[in-house]
Amino acid sequence: MRQVTVLGSCGAFPEPGRACSGFAVDWNGYRLVLGLGYATLPRLLTHWPDGAVDAVVITHEHPDHCVDLHGLFRMRFYGRPGGPRLPLYCPPGVLDRLSGLEPDVDLHTVFELHPLPGSYRVGPFDLTGLPLPHFVPNAGIRLQADGIALAYSGDTGPTPALAELGRGADLFIVEATDRDGETSRPTRNLLTSTEAGRWARRAGARRLMLTHFWPGNDREAAVAAAQVDFGGAVLAAEEELTLMLGTPDSGCACRRGARA
Ligand SMILES: [Zn+2]
Repeated sequence: MRQVTVLGSCGAFPEPGRACSGFAVDWNGYRLVLGLGYATLPRLLTHWPDGAVDAVVITHEHPDHCVDLHGLFRMRFYGRPGGPRLPLYCPPGVLDRLSGLEPDVDLHTVFELHPLPGSYRVGPFDLTGLPLPHFVPNAGIRLQADGIALAYSGDTGPTPALAELGRGADLFIVEATDRDGETSRPTRNLLTSTEAGRWARRAGARRLMLTHFWPGNDREAAVAAAQVDFGGAVLAAEEELTLMLGTPDSGCACRRGARA
């Protein structure tokens, strides 16, 4: 079983019944969490009730991408004291933010930190974290195993590095924040859905999944905008959506409400 489940699809703050950025990757039983934004941890625990994950990867230190890592820390610290440390791949600012919530505890008692950007072997994956432009250091993530690649932008402005990150990916998860006036900002740190489609096409990705929707945005319109340039299958991330990875018909092999 090789699959990714959406834990949260909102950017900035969650909509009712939804959560912010997070994905649960299950690769033949290896459990990797990609982002833990607001309200993602309870959803993660519906899939993996014991919270036993093998690795956590966080793209950047903004709370809509990492704040529920604090809850996972407490599960480990109070619920499984003395357990093995959890490999954590992230820009160092993520732990700085968490330490503000836990000033009296050494977070390294729970986490084994591997700084991003960088390249690592993580369970079955070759993990590559590429620096992408954002308000704070952000690492786009590429996970590759058995010749199959899953890539995720985190938050980013337009950059040729996106084509490298998502090169030939089976699934490219790209943020499509679509904030008002985004394309006229002097410095670009976020994408529109149109740009997400454009960069996914340049990457030659097989499927594109849009995520990080600004609350209230029209998601169907975002998918339609991305399809203009992309040309392949475009999906909107949605909580509980599970996609199979690396299967020829996996553009359709999805289900909601799955319990992996
Ligand atoms: Zn964000």
